[in-house]
Amino acid sequence: MKNNKILIFNPKSGNAKHRIPNSILQVAASIHGKYEYVLVDGNLEKDPFLKILNYLETGEYKYFCSTVMPGPQLRQAIPFTKKVRKLFSNTIIIWGGYFASNQYGVCMDSNLVDYIVNGPGDVTFPSLLDILEGEKLDKIAIDKKLGEIENLVFRNNDGNIVKTKKEQLLDQDTLPNLPYTYLDTFYPLKNYLAKTFMGKTTLSYHSSMGCPFTCSFCGIVPIFGGRWKGKSAEGMYHDVKYFKEKHNIDAIEFHDNNFFTSKKRVLEFSNLILNDNIKYWGEGRIDTLNKYSDDELKLMKQAGCEMIFLGAETGNDEVLKQMNKGGTQSGKMIKEFAARMGKSGIIAEMSFVLGMPADTEEQVYKQILWDINFIKEIKEINPDTEIIIYLYSPTPTKGSKLYQQILDAGFSFPETLEEWILPSWENFDLRKNPLTPWLKPYMIDTIKNFETVLNGKYPTVSDFRIHGYKKKALGLVSNWRYKTGFYKFPYEIKVLHRLWKYRQPEIEGFYSE
Ligand code: SF4
Repeated sequence: MKNNKILIFNPKSGNAKHRIPNSILQVAASIHGKYEYVLVDGNLEKDPFLKILNYLETGEYKYFCSTVMPGPQLRQAIPFTKKVRKLFSNTIIIWGGYFASNQYGVCMDSNLVDYIVNGPGDVTFPSLLDILEGEKLDKIAIDKKLGEIENLVFRNNDGNIVKTKKEQLLDQDTLPNLPYTYLDTFYPLKNYLAKTFMGKTTLSYHSSMGCPFTCSFCGIVPIFGGRWKGKSAEGMYHDVKYFKEKHNIDAIEFHDNNFFTSKKRVLEFSNLILNDNIKYWGEGRIDTLNKYSDDELKLMKQAGCEMIFLGAETGNDEVLKQMNKGGTQSGKMIKEFAARMGKSGIIAEMSFVLGMPADTEEQVYKQILWDINFIKEIKEINPDTEIIIYLYSPTPTKGSKLYQQILDAGFSFPETLEEWILPSWENFDLRKNPLTPWLKPYMIDTIKNFETVLNGKYPTVSDFRIHGYKKKALGLVSNWRYKTGFYKFPYEIKVLHRLWKYRQPEIEGFYSE
C-alpha cells in the first residue's frame, strides 16, 4: 500500500454556482502522472471535512495541500488544517494561494503550515515533493536543497522562516495541460459550467500569470513583482475549442489579473474565435485598452467580448499617483474611454476605490464626495458603464509610500490566523468593510447609501433576473434620490434588492445558475 499520496483541497469560496477550480488544477497538472493525488472541492461537497477525513483515515495520504485565497476560503482552510494537524500529526501540510503568500509570516507562525508555495507552483510543488520523497538526508542537507527551490517558504533547522528567491515567470505554453478529465472523475465538469448573463454554459479560464504593473494597493504585486506572461492565442484557443466541442460552451470568464496586456495576443485570439459564437469577459486596464483603436475594439466585440472589468479606482489624478497606479491613466482618460466603450458596444465594468487615507478627516470625506460625483459623470457619458464600488482595504506593498501612510494612520493587520477568520476581517478581504481608522462610520454610510441608490437606478446587467417590471420598479424608487443626491436611509431600495435577491458581482462573482 502506498502511503505518500497527496490530497489537494480547494476550500469553499462562496454560495454561488461554482467555477472550475483552476488554481488547484494548475498545481495538480504539475504532478500529474508522477505522484498519486486526489482532489477535494469544498464548493461541491456537502461535508468537505468528512471527505478529507475519509481519505486521510486510509493511512495512504502523507500530504494535505490547500489553496488559500483571502476572504471566504479562510473559513474552511484554517479550521480544517487545524483538525488535520491535530488528528494526523505526521501529515505534511502545504499551502499556496494569495493569502498564504502575502501573509506567510502569520501562516508559518501558526505552526499549522509546513511549507508555502509562494507564487506559481508549476516547478516549486513537484520540486518540493521530489526532495521530501527523495533520499534520506539530515535536516541541514535538506534545508540546503529546499533553499534552492524558488517560490518556497519553509522553516529551517534553526527555526527561522526562509523565503526563497522568486522564480521568473515560465513560458505558459510549455506548461502541462490542466487535468480536466481527471477532475471530471471527482466532480462532473458540467457542474462547473454555469449559466450567466453571457451564455448558458460559461467556462472560467486562466490564460496568463501576473500583471506588468505595481499598483501599491494590489495583493498580486508582492507575488508577481510587475511581471506578466500569457499563453499564446493558439494555446488559449486550443483549450476553448476543447470545451466548445466537448461541452458546447458559449461563454468564457477570463480570470486573468490583466487579460488585455498584450494587444497582439488579444487580436490574434479575436480572429481565431470570431465565428465560434462565444461571448467573453476579462479584466484589463484603461490606459492599456485605450491604446486599442476603435476598429480593434469593434473586432473584439464581434469576436464576443461582452464586458471588460477595468480598475478605474478614481478620477482624481493626485489620488491615482498616491495609489501608484502607474501607466498613463488619468481622470480625463477614464471619461474619454467610457465614451469609446459606449461606441464599441463592449460594456465597461469600472471599479472605483473609495476611502483612501488622507492628511485630515475633512480631506478623506471630501474625496469620497468627489468620487461619487465623478462616478455620476461617467454614468452620464455612458449609462451602460457598470460601476463597482470598493472601500479601500489596504494590501499595500511593503516599502511603498502608501504602506507608511496607513501605518502612520494606526492600521495593522491581524497577527494570528484566528483573527483572520473574524467576520470583520473576512469583509475586509472582500473590500466591503475596512477596519481603517481614517474611515469614519458616517463616511461608510455615505458610500454604502450611494451604492444602494446607484444599484437601484442602474442594476447590473450581470444579474439577468432583474429585468422588465423589476428593473422598472427599482428605477422608479431610485430616480429621485439619484437626481437630488439624497442617499440617506434608502430602505425601500434595499427591500426590493432583498426581495429579488439582487446580486452584486463584486461579492460572489456574476449571478449564475
Ligand atoms: S493593474 Fe490591476 S492587476 Fe495590475 S497591479 Fe494594478 S490593480 Fe493589480
